[in-house]
Amino acid sequence: MQKYFVDRTAFGDRLVTVTGDDARHICVVMRLKPGDRIVVSDGGGREAIAELTAVRPDCVEAVVVERLRADAEPKVDVWIAQSLPKGDKFETVLQKGTEIGAGRFLPFRSERTVVRYEAEAAARKLDRWRKIVKEAAEQAGRNRVPPVDPPMSWDELLARVAQVGRAWLLHTGSECMPLREAFRRGRAGDGPTGRAGFPSPVMLIVGPEGGFSDREAEQAVRAGALPVSLGRRVLRTETAAMVALACLMYEIGEMGGEPDAEGGVLYAGMQGELL
Ligand code: SAH
Repeated sequence: MQKYFVDRTAFGDRLVTVTGDDARHICVVMRLKPGDRIVVSDGGGREAIAELTAVRPDCVEAVVVERLRADAEPKVDVWIAQSLPKGDKFETVLQKGTEIGAGRFLPFRSERTVVRYEAEAAARKLDRWRKIVKEAAEQAGRNRVPPVDPPMSWDELLARVAQVGRAWLLHTGSECMPLREAFRRGRAGDGPTGRAGFPSPVMLIVGPEGGFSDREAEQAVRAGALPVSLGRRVLRTETAAMVALACLMYEIGEMGGEPDAEGGVLYAGMQGELL
């Protein structure tokens, strides 16, 4: 059953109203009819199966037939901080990242970022990015729509790193901790602990096509980030974010099945002490 996120105000105890692009999707793309069912979510954990009563391209009405338990959210909140790549690659990161389970997106500009948007274009972009994430969350059956922050400067990102206290700088430099090692070791429990015993939130910081400068890597480390390597091959910026995210999700048992014995013991004993 297709899921749709609706405004809290449009999601009553019994009646649900779907408008805008989602109404069009139900009516024109899915060609659903009165009597068909959809899943509705308020994006904050309230979910239900609803039966359609009226279907028009601009407005769909439905009645709640069954409340659902919202449980498709990852145990760890993984934030993707992505230096804005060229073209529409960031849209790929948003869409695939949402499917895999990212909890938040933080686009930023760094020394080697090539793209620049004027204020007006930036606002339009942000709207489009949020729409992409909402649609991906619906398609993936997520319970929450991951927020997309407005593009920020490198300094603003460093401030967020210091605030969150848990960040991995994905970097190709020689002094990086291998990903596997980063899972095992790292800095002691100075952040809130996720339900899996793995620190949460954790921020993955990915550089632009030209990577990070040495100065940026130093600044990130000073702000509290851990430089992490994804191995000997240099991945494209949009690949790096997805690979790191998928590996992390696998580690914490979010890709089907629980972590293996080693992982299980590791995480049971971790409780925020290792990262
Ligand atoms: N010429 C650049 C390559 C950048 S690749 C350089 O040497 O740094 C774009 C981004 O993807 C990098 O900034 C980093 O964040 C990430 N990335 C790509 N391959 C990686 C790897 N093997 N390990 C860690 N991060 C990687």
